[in-house]
Amino acid sequence: MNTVFDLNKILRPHILSLAPYSSARDEYTGHVGVFLDANENPYGSVTDESYNRYPDPYQADIKKKIAPIKGVSIDRIYLGNGSDEPIDLLIRATCTPGSDRVMILPPTYGMYEVSASIHNVFIDKVSLTSDFQIDTASVLENIRPETKIIWICTPNNPSGNVMETGAIETILKNFNGLVVVDEAYIDFTETPSWTARLEEYPNLVVLQTFSKAWGLAGLRAGMCFASPELIKILNKIKPPYNISLPAQQALLKGLESEEKKNAMVEEILKERAHLRTMLENLSLVIKVFPSDANFLLVRFEDAKAVMSYLINETIIVRDRSRVHLCDGCLRITVGTKEENEILVTSLKKFQSKNVVA
Ligand SMILES: *Cc1c(COP(=O)(O)O)cnc(C)c1O
Repeated sequence: MNTVFDLNKILRPHILSLAPYSSARDEYTGHVGVFLDANENPYGSVTDESYNRYPDPYQADIKKKIAPIKGVSIDRIYLGNGSDEPIDLLIRATCTPGSDRVMILPPTYGMYEVSASIHNVFIDKVSLTSDFQIDTASVLENIRPETKIIWICTPNNPSGNVMETGAIETILKNFNGLVVVDEAYIDFTETPSWTARLEEYPNLVVLQTFSKAWGLAGLRAGMCFASPELIKILNKIKPPYNISLPAQQALLKGLESEEKKNAMVEEILKERAHLRTMLENLSLVIKVFPSDANFLLVRFEDAKAVMSYLINETIIVRDRSRVHLCDGCLRITVGTKEENEILVTSLKKFQSKNVVA
């Protein structure tokens, strides 16, 4: 195959010709002046902090800081209200409801399917292999003329593993639509980011987030890296002020502290190894899957019973036992040293009770 990717053939025709909403702050980007253009309150805010002015719609200051950290040029960066926002926008931009399709590779992150369903876009599911790798042949066989996006999550949620590079390369080369590589957990793996391959593959889109390693889930901020042409389209169809002013202020500050992020990641990786060992020593655990993320997928003898016991102890983990290829599995986020010890102590208590019973 190896056909030439043409973004204009992937976009919905009306999106291509659409004129975006022009916000007041689009037309004048200076910082000083008498601002009587946006119907803001000139006296200030009801709060101590001033939030009376609309925020920068394109988050220029933040992108300037992200570019050198990620090694990606500013015109290839889009910032969303969480990465769930670009997931939605990518579908809006490319998929005509009721006729176009996306492909997902279960078990995987739930939002790809939810977003597609909201837009009445068809979903083709191609199962990962039993060791959670991509079945490349099956992916290629199941591509149809209407397929616009293939979603690949690596490290994958909920399995925790990294997808083989060769499989993703093959899909990028043989598919004329967008290949979205979701790297929400990229900071927890040694594997290099696909952002380094953006210039090589115009159909590659990489998603990352501030919600995990950076510890900023409450801000709602996600990154999307892609060709400058696609970024322009996302900017055209996004909600005008999609990142709030306090979120932008906090992000700017947070980006000054990459070392703190790295230190926390180190700590989490240490705890991940420790938690794995402790879980593997429990007889009620069948298997702890390999993880390149900040969670462990764990198969239990009786996941349902463990889950309800933990809830009773007010320890909340994620039940994935009814998810494809994950029967009997719970997904456990790596907590602090203390939290992990509370979890393991509780599992030991459950174990000894069940031996007696
Ligand atoms: C947590 C997670 C996200 C992050 O979503 P945000 O909207 O940025 O908080 C994205 N993708 C995957 C696979 C995730 O697990």
